[in-house]
Amino acid sequence: MSTKKSPLTYEPVSAWEGCSTTTRRRQVNALAQRYIDFLSSCKTERETIAYVQKRLAEAGFSEDFRKASVMRSLHGKCLFAVRKGRSTLASGVRLIAAHADSPRLDFKQRPIIEQSEVVQGKTHYYGGIRKYQWLARPLALHGVVALENGKSVSLVIGEKPGDPVFTIADLLPHLAQKQSAQKVSEAFEGEKLNVVIGHSPALASASKKDPDAKSPLKAHVLQLLNEQYGIREEDLVSAEIQAVPAGPARFVGLDKGLIGGYGQDDRICVFAALEALTSARAVANGQSMAVIFWDKEEIGSDGATGASSRFLQYCMEDMTRAWAPAIPVSQVFMRTKALSADVTAALDPDFPEVHEKQNAARLGFGPCFAKFGGSRGKYGSSEAEAEFFAELRGLLNKKNIPWQVAELGKVDVGGGGTVALFLAAYGMDVIDCGPALLSMHSPFELSSVADVSATVDAYRAFLEG
Ligand code: MN
Ligand code: MN
Repeated sequence: MSTKKSPLTYEPVSAWEGCSTTTRRRQVNALAQRYIDFLSSCKTERETIAYVQKRLAEAGFSEDFRKASVMRSLHGKCLFAVRKGRSTLASGVRLIAAHADSPRLDFKQRPIIEQSEVVQGKTHYYGGIRKYQWLARPLALHGVVALENGKSVSLVIGEKPGDPVFTIADLLPHLAQKQSAQKVSEAFEGEKLNVVIGHSPALASASKKDPDAKSPLKAHVLQLLNEQYGIREEDLVSAEIQAVPAGPARFVGLDKGLIGGYGQDDRICVFAALEALTSARAVANGQSMAVIFWDKEEIGSDGATGASSRFLQYCMEDMTRAWAPAIPVSQVFMRTKALSADVTAALDPDFPEVHEKQNAARLGFGPCFAKFGGSRGKYGSSEAEAEFFAELRGLLNKKNIPWQVAELGKVDVGGGGTVALFLAAYGMDVIDCGPALLSMHSPFELSSVADVSATVDAYRAFLEG
């Protein structure tokens, strides 16, 4: 890299500096295009884990823990994968942890209602959303309907050209005078996030039409669902249907320097960790390299597939039993080094006042290390050890990979948590490390093309050690 560091002062280096040649820029754009394709097709945790499983299977991973490249998933919503290294498990593994779930609108268990000449799907939002961002925009439905006979029906409606989309109607400005004076937190109610899914009665000739139906529009929607997916209204009770922003991710800007799309928190880290795991070189004396992709992070990491579950522990136990039965798994855990791979907030051009500039993440300056998270005096944070942070910046500096530090907002302005504390609970070294986003948790989050590439490089360097 061309920039010479002053011997005394420290300034982070732009990740664009490493993309200044035509060849390098072409590689970085090709990676960004693959990331865009991934984002466009993986909009739920299940779709993301299925994609990861496919990629890992192509790379030779199997579910047999006696082999050297292993993967295991639980309920199709979280996944652990590991590549055996040349050094023994006594030195722990190098682990990258990310999450595959994103904020969205989940259909309720009895979702379908008919009122005021439209059929709607009632939702209960999942994770931290700004409710107004989900109004008056095209939505797609992704999900599974689990049937009594043990089979499941998958559905994705609203992504293919020619598919219908869905939407939540917003209040017209003419009649929003009272709402406009309300606080944002009170103006938009969760119970009004109802997705429009139909409007017309069935044809008179329809075979299953009930002429006396009290809700003829709803009856038509149910008829179509039955024809196309073989499901009945009761089946929706055991369904997981998510309303997500419709349409593909896109390059943003005349220079195509940014990527806009839904679910980048935290699928950008899933993608980068997967790229790193499948492309890392097996180095002499290298430790085993592992990734874990969890679910439920956006609602507190509880649940069987979330980071507070025993899933990682069971996988590590099975791995140790297969590869090094004489070593206690507690030792493997305590010597493991981990990156909690999650996004952070980029310095916002329009709201710089919520950031403390010197410690804020900058878009395009590479992955961000957050030594701590939490709020109100680091509450709820597992702080990383200074020694581990020093080791990591040394590793990246040696390879000329850009990185920066990040603190999520000014002191006492807000805050947030990641899965780092669940890893720290095992005694391992762990630090948060991921790219910065603008519009985080919105239906159209923004990342930097240069950061995608720098994050893959950083994760690969970390795994290789
Ligand atoms: Mn996240
Ligand atoms: Mn999040």
